Formats: sequence, structure tokens, C-alpha cells
Amino acid sequence: MAQLRTPVQRKKKKQYIAVAMIVAFMCLFGIYSFASKEEDYEKEFHIPLVNEQLVVCYENDMDYRKGPYMTTLPGTMDEASTTQRQQQQSTSSQYPAQSNGTEPMIYFVTPTYPRREQIAEIIRLGQTLMHVPRLHWIVADDTASCSATLNSHINKFGIPYTHLASPMPEVYRLRKNAPRGVANRRAALSWIRTNNRRSGVLYFGDDDNTFDLKLFSEIRYTKKVSMFPVGLIGDYAISTPIVRNGRVEGFFDSWPAKRKWPVDMAGFAVNLEYLALSPNATMPFKAGYEEDEFLKSIGLKLQDIEPKANNCTEILVWHTQTKGSKAPTVRISMDRQKLDKVNLGGLLKRLETMGVNHISDAEGTTAQAIMNGSVKPLSFWFS
Ligand code: UDP
Ligand code: MN
Repeated sequence: MAQLRTPVQRKKKKQYIAVAMIVAFMCLFGIYSFASKEEDYEKEFHIPLVNEQLVVCYENDMDYRKGPYMTTLPGTMDEASTTQRQQQQSTSSQYPAQSNGTEPMIYFVTPTYPRREQIAEIIRLGQTLMHVPRLHWIVADDTASCSATLNSHINKFGIPYTHLASPMPEVYRLRKNAPRGVANRRAALSWIRTNNRRSGVLYFGDDDNTFDLKLFSEIRYTKKVSMFPVGLIGDYAISTPIVRNGRVEGFFDSWPAKRKWPVDMAGFAVNLEYLALSPNATMPFKAGYEEDEFLKSIGLKLQDIEPKANNCTEILVWHTQTKGSKAPTVRISMDRQKLDKVNLGGLLKRLETMGVNHISDAEGTTAQAIMNGSVKPLSFWFS
């Protein structure tokens, strides 16, 4: 039959074969790249801790806060009616907390990384932590060197703190599914060990989460490991232990993924004496499995878990996420030094150092001023 084909038909057949081969090649390539991605996702490169970079940027063990938690009830109380007094007392009994200065310390570990929202997140979180007595804030930046801007913002809260810099190794940063905040959390664990902090409680609090002040009084007396619900997680909008008769029996989380401990990073706290029993405890560079493997590495047992937040019926921490967006470029073609004559010079420099925006003389949205309701070129101001 083949010899009956015309040259045109033969050419077409060749084209079909060529197309089929290209399709087959693309399919094979697709399968290969999918498989290698899967592998990439799972595999952890074991990098010994000595090779990890850790810079201690700043340490402050003093509490410089004149926090509201120190103040006693106002003197005007004497004149207040009984109902008012009861209301004030019930408010002040929870927020802010009273302290006698001897409670177990909470080591609140915050991994953070430079992006345009970083300083805003740190201010919001720092102002929450200002209300929490007996807290040491470990801010671990995902950078190779210390950011003076970040440090100046943490410092002003007066909270005892340690500022660390520890970057994610490049092998992981190149991945689509990079293990976020792992290098810096490991650095914090290493700092805790090196500084022999063996009493108190460890908690991993990301820079973008929202923390109810009640959380701190709940986790402070953790004996081994405490657990509690985290709102706004996954397809159930919640990740929580399942509690019966005051005991954790299982977990409710929309991403099981064969995890023994399917919990969020913000959903547990660990006693430091208990942590010290596992000197090799660590967090893996394995996206999605950081909590599970960390809890495995401390040899956690189900019966050791203390449910908090009223037997896990209250939500005291929320996995809020800040919508990231690209830093805009603002076009200012005039001599920038002139802007120093007004507030704009200093203001724009400040925003640029935080990466909030970029200034260019050739591209971007042209900067204009508004006077008496009408738009004027910026240069108008200085002419
Ligand atoms: N993070 C980091 N390096 C990164 C990305 C994230 O240190 O490259 C920090 C981030 O500041 C946060 C934590 O790791 O405290 C978790 O990251 P993110 O909030 O982006 O992830 P989510 O858990 O909300 O998906
Ligand atoms: Mn987050």
C-alpha cells in the first residue's frame, strides 16, 4: 500500500511522525520534570550546623519597658461605682497581664526576611509583644548580615531581645517550594543552646501572624509540649488538636500529608528543659514538614501534649498573611537634593532603605504635588 502514496502523502506522514515524536518528547520531559520536582520537594540536603551562617547582631537581656502591664489600677477607682470597678477589674485581669517578675520566660522566635512589608510587620508584632511580661524576643533575619534598620525598629520597643542573621542556604532558595524561615529558626535554636537557656518556654511566632494576648498566659506554664488551635489555616480554616476528656487524641487539619504531627508552627509551645533532653533536636529544610519533623526530633508522645486554649475551643493565634506587592518606582527627574528642603527628601530616603519604593529619574510613575486642589509638577515647588 505504501508505494501507492503520492509524494505529498509521504511528506504528510513524515510530518505526522515528527509531530508525534515532539509530543512524545514533551510528555517524557514533562513527566521527568514533574518527578524531579517531587523529589526536589522531598529531599533535604544535610548541611551540618557548623556550615550554617549565624551572626548575633544585637543582644539585650534588659527589660526597658514601662509597659502597661506594670501599672496598677488607676487611683480614680475609689470614685468608681461597684459595677464600673467590676468591669475595670475584669478587663485588667486579662489585658494587660500582671507580673511579679519571676514567671517562666517565653522565648518568642520570629523568623523574618527583608521585603517591603518587613518593618511594618515587625512594628505590629513588637507592639503586641510590648504587652507581654517576661518575654525574650529572638528575631532571626533571613540575611547574611545584620540590618541596622531592622535592629533600630526592634530596639525601640524596650523588650529583651536577640537579633540574629542567618540566611537560607542558596540550594534551598532556588527552589519553587523553599523551606521558609527554617535557617533562621535553626539559628534561634542554636542560640538557645549556646546560651544555655534551659528554663522557660519556646514558641515559634511568625512575623505576619496575629496573637491574642491570652495566648502568652496559656503557653507560659507548658510542662513539655502544649498545643492549641490556629485560625485561618488551610481548607478547614483551622488546624487544631482533637481533644476528648482533656486529652489530645488526634488532629483536625486539611493537609494530612502522612504527618504524625499535622500542626502549624504557631500551634505549639515547648518547655526548654524538655527540649534540652533532645540535644539533636532540629528543624529540617523540608517545606511542609518542618513542624512534624521538629516534633519527631524531640521524641514527642501523644500523652505528653497539654491542650491549651480552654481544651482547644478558643482561637488565640491566627495565621494572617500580608498581601505582598511589588515596590513601585516613582519617577523624580528633578535634582533630589532640592527635596531635602522639605520633608519629602528624608521621607523618600527612609522608604527606599526599607525597600518600600524605588526612586528613578527615568521611569516609573511621575511624582507630582497637589496645591489648592490642582496638580503641579514637583519642580514647581522649588522654582
Ligand atoms: N520567611 C523567611 N524567609 C523567606 C520567607 C519567609 O524567613 O524566604 C519567614 C517569614 O517572615 C515568616 C515565616 O518565615 O515569619 C513563614 O513565612 P511566610 O509567612 O511567608 O509563610 P506562610 O507560613 O504564611 O505560608
Ligand atoms: Mn505567614
